[in-house]
Formats: sequence, structure tokens, C-alpha cells
Amino acid sequence: MQSVAMTGKKILAFGAHPDDIEFGCGAALLSAAASGATIECVVLSKGEAGTHGSRSVREEEAIQAAEMMGATIQFPSTAGDTRLRAGLEITLQVAKMMRRFRPDIVLAPTGHANQHPDHRETCRIARDANRLARYGKTPGLETLDPHASQALFFYDVSSEAVGSEGLTPILVDVSDQVDRWVELMECHKSQTGNVDYIALQLSRARALGIQAGVHSAVRLYSEGPVLLGSMAELCAARGPRF
Ligand SMILES: [Zn+2]
Repeated sequence: MQSVAMTGKKILAFGAHPDDIEFGCGAALLSAAASGATIECVVLSKGEAGTHGSRSVREEEAIQAAEMMGATIQFPSTAGDTRLRAGLEITLQVAKMMRRFRPDIVLAPTGHANQHPDHRETCRIARDANRLARYGKTPGLETLDPHASQALFFYDVSSEAVGSEGLTPILVDVSDQVDRWVELMECHKSQTGNVDYIALQLSRARALGIQAGVHSAVRLYSEGPVLLGSMAELCAARGPRF
């Protein structure tokens, strides 16, 4: 599939934990970076409650991964791992980040109920902040100009979080990024020792790719219809093969 130039486009990607973005949508971000997009990662905790790795190790792993994507990364001050909850304070904090970075596209985990609550809450925080960022007179955001992103897309962090009712799935062909995606996920060494998380992500992308007639694909979701600019863009799309 032909890549479309993304020079000048900005993507703001949210994760609850230091490895969420790379495992969930890292291949899509590598593809965007290769097309010229500017990427910023926002990680809402340092994974300090995880069974493996420490706060400092996991922070360093995420920084290394962001560097590999050519992305900037921020760790805003929050309640921390397992304690993320979508309240007004953190939502406004994230909305401010959106108004400062002014993304074209926002990426966040799906809000599926049956998963790590931090992923679900990060979905709610990003979704609500994306809305408040565009409202002209949101109290607490007055010092920054409103910003309306073009679209908010959700990504699957883990296998049990796949899909959410009412969302429209979109497959992104990431076949030419698979090798680099493996390298990117391997940045999170503290998380890949006991469970083969990398193989899980790769096999899911492979299965989605086969269904679409390419090697590997990553699934994103939109909450509403996705508008294409022209029939020419539609011609670059491809439906299921089976
Ligand atoms: Zn996570």
C-alpha cells in the first residue's frame, strides 16, 4: 500500500504504562514517523506497580523507545501506576498538553472494561481531554488557545482488551515496519522476560494482516465515521480478503 506523506502532521500518543504505546501501536507510529510525522508520547505512570522492572528502569526503557521512533516523551505527574482515575484535574492537565502540542491525531488505549484499569482510565482521560481541549471557554484552560484534533483513535494494548462495542475498526498496514517494531518492543527488556508479549503482538498483527491480504496490520478504532478526503484515498483502502 502506498504511504501518504505526513510531513507537518503531529501525533500525540497516550499510554498508561511505559510500554503500552510501543506494544499497542508502535508499528503504526514507526510507519507515521517514516512518513514524516512528528510524534509525542505521553505516559501517565512509570509502571512502578508492575511485577517486573522498577520506576527508573521502565522510564529509561520508554525514553529509549521514544528515541528510536524519533519521538519526544513526557511523564506528567499523576497518581501513578494502578491509581490512574479519570478525574477533572488530570483531564485538564492532559487537555493542556493537547493545546500545547496541537496534534492532528490523538492515540489512546481502548476503554474496554476487562483489562488493566489504568488502560481503561487513560482512554477516558484522553477522550475527555480531547473534547475539553477544543471547547473555547473551558475553565482552567484559558491561557492556551483551543485546539481541535482531527481525530482520536484507540489502540489495543493487550489481547483481552481487543475491540469495544460501538467502535469502528481500521487496519493499518505495517508490513514494512515489523522488524523495527520488534526492536522497538525489545527496548522494554524488563517486561519481555517471562511472557512472550512480543510474539503475542506480532501474531495478532500477522493474523489481521493475512485477513487483509498484507503481511501484518495493526488495528486502530474510531468512535465515529472516518472521513476520507476523496475517492482517491478510498482507492488506497482494501477490504477483507476472506
Ligand atoms: Zn499497560
